Amino acid sequence: MRKKIVAGNWKMNLNLESGRKLVAEVCNLLKQTNPDKISEKPEVVFFPPFVFITEVAKIAENIPGVGVGVQNISHEEKGAYTGEVSASMVRSCGATYTLIGHSERRTYFKEDDNLLARKLEVAIRNGLTPVYCCGEIISERKAGKHFEVVGEQMTTALFWMNKAEFEKIVIAYEPVWAIGTGVTATPLQAQEMHAFIRTLISEKFGNETGQKTTILYGGSCNAQNAAELFSQPDVDGGLIGGASLNASEFFAIVNSF
Ligand code: PEP
Repeated sequence: MRKKIVAGNWKMNLNLESGRKLVAEVCNLLKQTNPDKISEKPEVVFFPPFVFITEVAKIAENIPGVGVGVQNISHEEKGAYTGEVSASMVRSCGATYTLIGHSERRTYFKEDDNLLARKLEVAIRNGLTPVYCCGEIISERKAGKHFEVVGEQMTTALFWMNKAEFEKIVIAYEPVWAIGTGVTATPLQAQEMHAFIRTLISEKFGNETGQKTTILYGGSCNAQNAAELFSQPDVDGGLIGGASLNASEFFAIVNSF
């Protein structure tokens, strides 16, 4: 069975106190889960800003099925790169996941697929699980180019890897027009892109790898629409932005499987 994940991307929101409170509330709700049902539940991963990861990791430490990640890492291993944060640093603070290529990094910080390939390599080398984000902008969808665009993002950033490296990757399909807009991809739109991504992976690395790769959906996913999106055969969970900032809503999304 494929691993299911529901992840919360806090972006540049919350402070230490409100972040701690959010994680503690979600963890308390998770602790009440019937132990017999835990294996059916998705892994929950928090993606706070760098400065909070140690605290979040401490709170989440003994809660089964809860992980901590960062929203970005440097493409360099170490050295004179003022303001950058390395994969090994975040690993030493308790992070085990990293987002790579979120659309806000691509748009505002001009990160392209070649740079993202370097970040992926550094992440894997340091034992972080990358959640590689891909997705088209609205004009590309309107022009019918969404499969081509996502195919290119997958190929350039990921398909230089060998099979063992690729099997460490989680994919998040996030149509840019759905992120933070309140417009969600329909379950059919999500399913057809996830199936397309899975086919690409199978063609490159074999059917077994394609079948076991976790592919998340992200883009205005909330407690109302999560169940229908997660019921699609190729949707293995969600990367949640705005709705992950509220403990009860995030917990409801986690319980949407
Ligand atoms: C995101 O930031 O990855 C995201 C999906 O945001 P939102 O859920 O707010 O659309």
